[in-house]
Amino acid sequence: MAGIVLRNVSKTYPSRDTDMAAVSGLDLDIHDNQFVTLLGPSGCGKTTTLRLIAGYLTPDTGTISVNGKVVSSSDGVIPPEDRCMGMVFQNYAVWPHKTVYENVVFGLKLRKVPADEARKRVDHALDLVNLTGLKKRYPSELSGGQQQRVALARSLIVEPSILLLDEPLSNLDAKLRERMRTELKQLQRRTGITFIYVTHDQAEALALSDQIAVIHGGRLQQYGTPREVYGRPANRVVADFMGLVNLVHGRVLGVVGGRATVSLLNDTRLDLPAPQGSAAGDPIEIAIRPENINLQKPVPGSSVLAMVSERIFLGNLTEYCATLASGEVLRVQTHPQEIFNVGDQVAVNVDASQCTIFQRT
Ligand code: ATP
Repeated sequence: MAGIVLRNVSKTYPSRDTDMAAVSGLDLDIHDNQFVTLLGPSGCGKTTTLRLIAGYLTPDTGTISVNGKVVSSSDGVIPPEDRCMGMVFQNYAVWPHKTVYENVVFGLKLRKVPADEARKRVDHALDLVNLTGLKKRYPSELSGGQQQRVALARSLIVEPSILLLDEPLSNLDAKLRERMRTELKQLQRRTGITFIYVTHDQAEALALSDQIAVIHGGRLQQYGTPREVYGRPANRVVADFMGLVNLVHGRVLGVVGGRATVSLLNDTRLDLPAPQGSAAGDPIEIAIRPENINLQKPVPGSSVLAMVSERIFLGNLTEYCATLASGEVLRVQTHPQEIFNVGDQVAVNVDASQCTIFQRT
């Protein structure tokens, strides 16, 4: 199969004081020309996975193949320099005593590319990352964003078919990070290189990726499009990690044809896809995104009432905390126009089509 395939890949560091693996039984299929993000909290095993793919680490179990050829197994690895991969790090790793040109041309010099061709390729790489005209500068004369672009150009110059990026934007300020995000996405589209990108920032992952691999505790929790992992989280861990979510307790009333009727919030009934093996009486948790709750002025017969206990203006939207009679607090996000005040009684409506149920143990 084309692309990168990880099968049952595990890695435990010998020096670790616990015997928990940094990466455990990882299966992943990364297709050519895709922007794939490894996403998860600090210490979940993202960088270890990237270093395994790059060939800096040998897996304890499993195999990594590129275009059908095994490049890593417990028997050994093809070294990083012999793989068609480039790598970009968080700390740029540009040489301070070399100019932009000298930094970028380095990989071509190693490969003894003739000077004329090397000049053309440097110009092209600098053009790709919007650094045209700055090739005589030293890194100290560049902004953080420009230095990161030098690092990108240096990786691109050797024309890798796969680019591995380890939190490359995390040293940049918020505004620049957002701009570089768009540029990275465009760069990936223009070059057709497969990007494997590590981040703990879920907004970054949603904005950039064709596919997101959500990793937690060294294990793959879900692999899907941004829409799938956000809208249809595979489990509670994913739901909780991917942005704001209300996790509300409820109970299954009945299951018919793969759909469950559940009761929650003061006996509101929702009809939802049933988790596998669920049956009437099961305690469940339902994940409801704040934007999928609608607050209205109560009318006679409104089934769920709450009191507005907090109102936060966030610029492009307003967030309400709605406290139910049970004491549970729902976070609700709406259009920034402020309709309700703290202390108002409100009716709560949930968009069932956008919710996901998990079994509660
Ligand atoms: P972060 O976002 O903080 O960089 P990460 O998800 O990239 O985290 P890894 O760097 O892959 O996580 O680390 C996974 C686990 O392995 C962590 O518990 C970490 O402490 C441990 N670990 C990483 N490198 C080593 C090492 N060289 N020796 C021992 N343990 C390590």
